[in-house]
Amino acid sequence: MKLWAKILIGFVLGAIVGLLVGPPAAALKPLGDLFIRLIKMLIVPLVFSSLVIGASSMGDVRKLGRVGAKTLAYYLATTAVAVTIGLILATLLHPGAGFQIPTETYKAKPLPSLVETLLNIIPTNPLGAMVSDNMLQIIAFALFMGVAIALIGDKGKPVHAFFDSLAEVMYKITGIVMEFAPIGVFALMAWVTATNGPDVLVPLAKVIFVVYLGCFLHAAVVYSSAVSIFARMNPLRYFRGFFDASLVAFSTCSSSATLPVSLRCAQENLGVPKDIASFALPLGATINMDGTSIYQGVCALFIAEVYGIPLGMPQYLTIILTATLASIGTAGVPGAGMIMLTMVLQAVGLPLDGILLIAGIDRVLDMARTCVNVTGDGAGAVVVAATEGELKTLPAGTTLAGK
Ligand code: ASP
Repeated sequence: MKLWAKILIGFVLGAIVGLLVGPPAAALKPLGDLFIRLIKMLIVPLVFSSLVIGASSMGDVRKLGRVGAKTLAYYLATTAVAVTIGLILATLLHPGAGFQIPTETYKAKPLPSLVETLLNIIPTNPLGAMVSDNMLQIIAFALFMGVAIALIGDKGKPVHAFFDSLAEVMYKITGIVMEFAPIGVFALMAWVTATNGPDVLVPLAKVIFVVYLGCFLHAAVVYSSAVSIFARMNPLRYFRGFFDASLVAFSTCSSSATLPVSLRCAQENLGVPKDIASFALPLGATINMDGTSIYQGVCALFIAEVYGIPLGMPQYLTIILTATLASIGTAGVPGAGMIMLTMVLQAVGLPLDGILLIAGIDRVLDMARTCVNVTGDGAGAVVVAATEGELKTLPAGTTLAGK
């Protein structure tokens, strides 16, 4: 049986078991955590080695700059569209109608300044960046290494060969770990549905519905158009080829934990060359969060509605700008989007306490937004590869999904 079909079965069965068994099914969580740990184990060595190889085999710095500019432009544009979709849906569907104002208070996390954030991209100690999982710093150092390897020519060959081989080894381990994905996904879904039964979900069903609808529309409209216009790829082929990554993102709620799977899907199922995949996907997992910005748009309007605070066009524009920036700063880990929501709320003067209403169902919202975050990264990699004329056409039947 195909891997994606096995993962899908694990996913559906897990959801059913969690609903039927209820809270005791939450005991399955360690199996899910085991899966998450197994893929997380691979992130730093895999991203670092494949990015060094990617950057050094791009050949010249101009190509790296061009690919970088295209990737960033695509990510920013789709994120701004995503917030707008969230805002339009929340304006039309009023998810906050009939809600009680929470009485507790919520403290915002202090946010670093822009200068600090930019400076922080450069690690003072590359090993420290790897030890503390700082993805942007790892990306920055890998790019420097890759470019330098290309610049020194023959002398750089041994280092290149070493990282090439390391990347292959990590890639192989990803394949082995993915065999365990159906069980991991099963356990994570059982845990989620066991701990988020109908009592938790029903009162906020409208918020959940609006966020899920926004995520669905964004993927169906924006990603489908992007891959068909720029890459002449049938959207269904895209979603199918990237399906393992989308499902793993949905169940783990972590873009960065999904990275090893996204890298495999993009290269093996969609024909994205290694250099572009290993550049666009880690960058996307760190800064491109379309689902998170849809969620932030919807939640901001939901909270404004609950507190009866009217918002006008200037506030809508502020939400679009801050949610786009906030999503760049959101770490690809579970729940990060909710913390960054404080930045959006603060920018338009909305009460932070509103977050308490959402906190209880955040995991369920996180699943949809992470799935869209990761699916958007894949679409970005396909679009950039296609516009560089480097998308490989895979003969039918050779894809992982088709195995
Ligand atoms: N969990 C999301 C991700 O990893 C981030 C978020 O919380 O919005 O992409």
